[in-house]
Amino acid sequence: MFHHMESPSANPLRDLFDAAARRRTVRLTCRRCRHENSFAAAALWWHFRQRGWVSEFAEVQRRMVCRWCIKRHGMKIRNPRLRLTEETPLDNSLAMPTELDWKHELRRRR
Ligand SMILES: [Zn+2]
Repeated sequence: MFHHMESPSANPLRDLFDAAARRRTVRLTCRRCRHENSFAAAALWWHFRQRGWVSEFAEVQRRMVCRWCIKRHGMKIRNPRLRLTEETPLDNSLAMPTELDWKHELRRRR
């Protein structure tokens, strides 16, 4: 879906949008139980964008809660370890942005 090769910055990836432009997967690992989950950066970016949340990685770590720790122990564990990978995402439950949503954001960032 992302045909354009012009990436928003040549610098190290700073946020979900940069990661999405490079088609990365965001892998999150709970610091408490080591449970891992991963999302397409584009889907996670869109999830944040729709809520008006900034998409810097630090914010992602602040927002994301380990589902396992909630389910098993009723504990809200935040600040998972975050890595960018090129693997297939484990979690495909989040909607991907449309081509139009993506183009709007590209234009906005220029
Ligand atoms: Zn956990």
